[in-house]
Amino acid sequence: VTGVSARDPSGRSIAVRARAVVVACGALHTPLLLARSGVASEHLGRHLTIHPVVAAWGLFDERVDARRAVPQGYVIDEHHDDGLLFQGAFAPLDVCGPLFTDVGPAWTRLIERFDHLACFGFMIEDDGEGRVRAGPGGRPLVTYSLTRADVARLRRGVTMLAEVYFAAGAREVLPAVRGFDRLGGARDVARLGRAPVVASDFDVTAYHPLGTCRMGRDPARSVIGPDHRVHGFEGLFVADGSAVPCSLGVNPQLTIMALADRAAEHVARSLEGPS
Ligand SMILES: Cc1cc2nc3c(=O)[nH]c(=O)nc-3n(C[C@H](O)[C@H](O)[C@H](O)COP(=O)(O)OP(=O)(O)OC[C@H]3O[C@@H](n4cnc5c(N)ncnc54)[C@H](O)[C@@H]3O)c2cc1C
Repeated sequence: VTGVSARDPSGRSIAVRARAVVVACGALHTPLLLARSGVASEHLGRHLTIHPVVAAWGLFDERVDARRAVPQGYVIDEHHDDGLLFQGAFAPLDVCGPLFTDVGPAWTRLIERFDHLACFGFMIEDDGEGRVRAGPGGRPLVTYSLTRADVARLRRGVTMLAEVYFAAGAREVLPAVRGFDRLGGARDVARLGRAPVVASDFDVTAYHPLGTCRMGRDPARSVIGPDHRVHGFEGLFVADGSAVPCSLGVNPQLTIMALADRAAEHVARSLEGPS
């Protein structure tokens, strides 16, 4: 690798000669950039993990005023070894409003009680994985499948969350699981715990794409080596979430920053000696 060539928004070509090139476009774009640049590993873009997230709302008689706080400071980590991490979260009314499954007058009644809602989500440590490849216009096309183990974990997480809300005095829980718009108490929670749910019954979101240029010693099983260098290329490094070789089960930013620090040391070492 001898540098970077690019085009600016006006279409002008730019060429930068460099002895080391570090790609850090994130787990959805880095594999596409590398593929466009001639890297052909069969693992490029594969092994995508995302930490699938499901959230549930608790409706309380008292005002909660969740939007005035920073609820992400609250976590339940007792079940982390089972791949479940619960975190508080909240967003303004215009973001939350469209997420509720109620419509018409029921939606209006719920919105009028917005200050009485609490929201917690949980992420699971992925059992399944996905893939990113070039879609229309070269943009990332992401596919991902939840396994049965993932679905069982989602159901376990959402029933535990409902139990927590009711123990805290919630009047109702809105779990956003198909067929379970509202839970009124322990009996409904038990019904959800037994229901034959499938992946598409859950309202899943994700915020942590990782793993699409996974790190490993064996070039037959990974895209980059432990020194962050792309297997088979001199002077080409990856330093972002795509390097993380497995689902972390925790928010990944600090790990990604630590890896970037580590990558910088390897890049610096590779530049020692005659230019
Ligand atoms: C809503 C949300 C909330 C989150 N909350 C948390 C949290 O609380 N804690 C936590 O740890 N993590 C959180 N995350 C995850 C965290 O933000 C990501 O894991 C992290 O930012 C990924 O870092 P990265 O360096 O891999 O990629 P990114 O931070 O995505 O950086 C990649 C950069 O490359 C640029 N880029 C892409 N393609 C190109 C190209 N072709 N040419 C030039 N530049 C390009 C992008 O514009 C971007 O700036 C959250 C994510 C989201 C979406």
